Amino acid sequence: MDFRRFVLLILGLCCTQLIFAASLTDGPYVFLRDGQREAHWICEGKLQTRQIAVHGKIKPVCGLVPALQLESQRTQAADELPQVRRWAAVSDVHGQNALLLSLLRAQHIVDEQGNWAWRRGVLIVVGDVFDRGPNQLEALWAIYRWAQQARAAGGRVELLLGNHEIMVLTGDLRYLHEKYQAVAQLLGRSYDQLFAESTELGAWLRARATVLKLGDTLFTHGGLHPVFADQPIHLASINAAFRNYLSQPSLQRDPQTAWLVGNDGPTWYRGYFAPPRASSTQVQALLKQAKVERIVVGHTTQEQIRSFYQGGVIAIDAGLKNGERGELLVFEKGRLWRGLLDGQRVPLALGDD
Ligand code: ZN
Repeated sequence: MDFRRFVLLILGLCCTQLIFAASLTDGPYVFLRDGQREAHWICEGKLQTRQIAVHGKIKPVCGLVPALQLESQRTQAADELPQVRRWAAVSDVHGQNALLLSLLRAQHIVDEQGNWAWRRGVLIVVGDVFDRGPNQLEALWAIYRWAQQARAAGGRVELLLGNHEIMVLTGDLRYLHEKYQAVAQLLGRSYDQLFAESTELGAWLRARATVLKLGDTLFTHGGLHPVFADQPIHLASINAAFRNYLSQPSLQRDPQTAWLVGNDGPTWYRGYFAPPRASSTQVQALLKQAKVERIVVGHTTQEQIRSFYQGGVIAIDAGLKNGERGELLVFEKGRLWRGLLDGQRVPLALGDD
């Protein structure tokens, strides 16, 4: 390459970066500082900061996140909840906030304005809101808001931790959308520091569960390895181990923690779908040990929501991450349905894939 072309190429790259940075809008990122909350936005490439009362309201300065009420009290997510008349589950949003909203609107879980509309219903988001797509912050704040609105209406929204939550919170930023690298640069810290324990979302995420039992159904992002069938399953201990790891990533050196957060642990396991596959007997043993009818998982993308092991495992990652399709698993009127983007509900066939 001659010198002139080299200079033009460098100029081109710089300009693209400059234009990208100048059009960048994101936020709020909320930090706790000296007893105050400080909210930061990037508005068309410029940093904007506001002081917020500790449990105050955040009015939007720019971007897509509506007004927020900071939680007055941090409550640790439940490990187990009683059976409810209707629940829904979605997973692997991966930064596709607009598509998540479309799906929940189409299924009347939220209204046209994006507010909770499912009254006493329970929505479980089964991990991996972070990474790949460009609107993970909007999705996280949306779940945070729905959780408050649902609670006020007698319902509930729970976000479970997936492998990508664990990755970002422990500084593994390989799958971040490029937008967030630029946001981190403009805010002068690494992206994981925007979700440190001293931030509103960082503290909220660290209080979430990784496994949750709701009545006769167990939810977790990847799945439970057959080895869990060998002894009583203590959901609270699993959730506590993940929380401990998030506040102390050096625990990775502890063999038990390393196993739990690794490929065979609940946030990464793929053995219901990929070899070496769990046998039907092993899945039956797992269900018996967990005292549930079914395990609902995301993480391994399917064409559509599918039943495996005669309904013992339901795979709900129907590809939201691609930004074009996605489905919601709905339990209502005593049975399971695939909730589609066009508003239809199709009975889920409980076969063995
Ligand atoms: Zn995953």
